[in-house]
Amino acid sequence: MILVVDDNRQNVFSLLQLLEMNGFSADAAYSGEEALKKMLKKDYSLVILDVQMPVMDGFELADILSGSQKTKETPIIFLSAVNTDKKFITRGYASGAIDYIVKPFDPDILLLKIKTFIRLYNQARELNTIQQNLLKEIEVRKAAEAEKDDFIAMVSHELKTPLTSLKGYLQLLIMHADNLSKTETLTYLDTANRQANKLNSLVNDLLDISKIENGKLKFNLRNFNFQQLLVNTIRMMKLVNTNCNIILNGSVDTEIEADEMRIEQVLINYLSNALKYSPKNHDITVDAEQSANFVKVTVTDKGIGIPPEMHHKLFDKFFRVDAPGHFQGMGIGLYICAEIIKRHGGTYGVSSVPGSGSSFYFTLPLQKQA
Ligand code: ADP
Repeated sequence: MILVVDDNRQNVFSLLQLLEMNGFSADAAYSGEEALKKMLKKDYSLVILDVQMPVMDGFELADILSGSQKTKETPIIFLSAVNTDKKFITRGYASGAIDYIVKPFDPDILLLKIKTFIRLYNQARELNTIQQNLLKEIEVRKAAEAEKDDFIAMVSHELKTPLTSLKGYLQLLIMHADNLSKTETLTYLDTANRQANKLNSLVNDLLDISKIENGKLKFNLRNFNFQQLLVNTIRMMKLVNTNCNIILNGSVDTEIEADEMRIEQVLINYLSNALKYSPKNHDITVDAEQSANFVKVTVTDKGIGIPPEMHHKLFDKFFRVDAPGHFQGMGIGLYICAEIIKRHGGTYGVSSVPGSGSSFYFTLPLQKQA
């Protein structure tokens, strides 16, 4: 849309006619003020501006337009029958015009110029949009790069801790091989083995994350007894963590169709977190319930708890509560649990009171969903 600005109605009328006859859409303003109002509201691809107008002349208007973010890129052509002197023409260009045409003008030449200016204006706008998009893209990539660096630093740190410990115990065993009793040797080997298991589970979590990201987390569905899974997992957790007390309430003595290893992984994750985030009290209860359509398991601890405003983020990737006590972790365990449960058609959630403890639950449908 072209804006024609002139206080002379006859001039405006004939110019509008010329433009419209040649396929341009055009609008009129009869004073500098009116033009300004219109241009701040609407986008124009060109302004044809009369120099001599009362109150605000063309130069003043052009000065204002070139100072405004919204209008500074809009090309201006001055059209004047009176101010044809070189100093006026110079003043016109100085105030931001791209052309200064003196009357009488050749309409064909004017139309050719208009076409060219509008094309240049549109190209400039396109380039501007491309530039803005590129700048945004650079910002997004920079942020992703920083996130990746943080992730690598965090993963390296997490892997290094059990690795250093594993190396330490193996070195002890090598250095004192001749003097250690069988019991001492077994204790060191057991500790080294635990560290190797930790490393293994960290690497497995990382592999799971990559599978989730690539849509390659596959499930091996089959029927199994849910109660048996609960009992066996709790027994295994007690064997590995001799100082914990896990009590199973309720019973879900039913077959469900799911990926048994993945559901066990969720339960182990909930139980490991319950132990990890309860440094002073290792009493944990597991409540198992069954309704007509689903089974529900709730793991409750008496640990540090979680502030309510963070509950909705706990199952997000890499989310960790900055809790006092410097607990180690990568913030991906619950994210993987959520993905497994979701993909089985189940639900998950948490209730927790800081300082008193947390309850994490998940449900699974009795009918096959995954
Ligand atoms: P990680 O434990 O490796 O950091 P998770 O994804 O398993 O990662 O848990 C995410 C965050 O949720 C943890 O960092 C912790 O702050 C919080 N959290 C999980 N389970 C508990 C719990 N039982 N008690 C208190 N906080 C918990």
